[in-house]
Amino acid sequence: MKVGLFGGTFNPIHYGHLAIATFAREAFELNRVMFIPSGRPPHKTREGMAPAHDRYQMTVLATHGDSHFAVSPVEMERRGKSYSVETVEEMLGFFGEAARLFFIVGTDAMVDIVNWERADELVKLCEFIVASRPGSDLRKVAQKYRRRIHVLKAPIFGMSSTDIRQRVREGRSVHYLVPELVERYIADHRLYLGRGSGRLAGEKTE
Ligand code: ATP
Repeated sequence: MKVGLFGGTFNPIHYGHLAIATFAREAFELNRVMFIPSGRPPHKTREGMAPAHDRYQMTVLATHGDSHFAVSPVEMERRGKSYSVETVEEMLGFFGEAARLFFIVGTDAMVDIVNWERADELVKLCEFIVASRPGSDLRKVAQKYRRRIHVLKAPIFGMSSTDIRQRVREGRSVHYLVPELVERYIADHRLYLGRGSGRLAGEKTE
């Protein structure tokens, strides 16, 4: 069994994520892609971070129509800091040691891997599928990890969650950038409207 693990803050999930997951699934004949929204990400500041359960809900809404996709709350439910290597260990426990795991990442995340917790172990436990992204260069990935990395042949998608949050804050459209159900969820829950507004900065609801 070949499983794609797609970790992210998904704040919010957008069509770039969904397209990459689909291209990766096809190209590497993955049986399933597991989206794994983070709890409190160790590498990102909390400003503008929607509560984990909102990010999880949006990920469920965005993926529920695709039978190859699933969403795992494993990171969200973990107390304290959460690291990808722990997630991969749990997934190996769940899918069995025979499963071949592929971590799906954008180039920005891949280049940063040297800073990840127990990076050497992580790279032994799973392979990586890397999607190109504007603004980061795969040549900067540590040489020792390269043989475990597969480059995804796919169009480059310029969208980012940062851009989507900014558009929402400025009252601009996010149509065609996120699925309609996600667009509606953001509006209904008044996410990303500005610093300190609504539940945007609300740690308490997690
Ligand atoms: P933010 O703008 O808030 O940093 P993001 O758009 O990078 O968010 P994440 O949830 O942090 O989204 O990304 C999860 C994973 O998906 C990361 O590995 C990231 O590199 C990758 N990714 C996100 N958007 C793209 C994209 N447009 N093309 C390729 N990879 C992407």
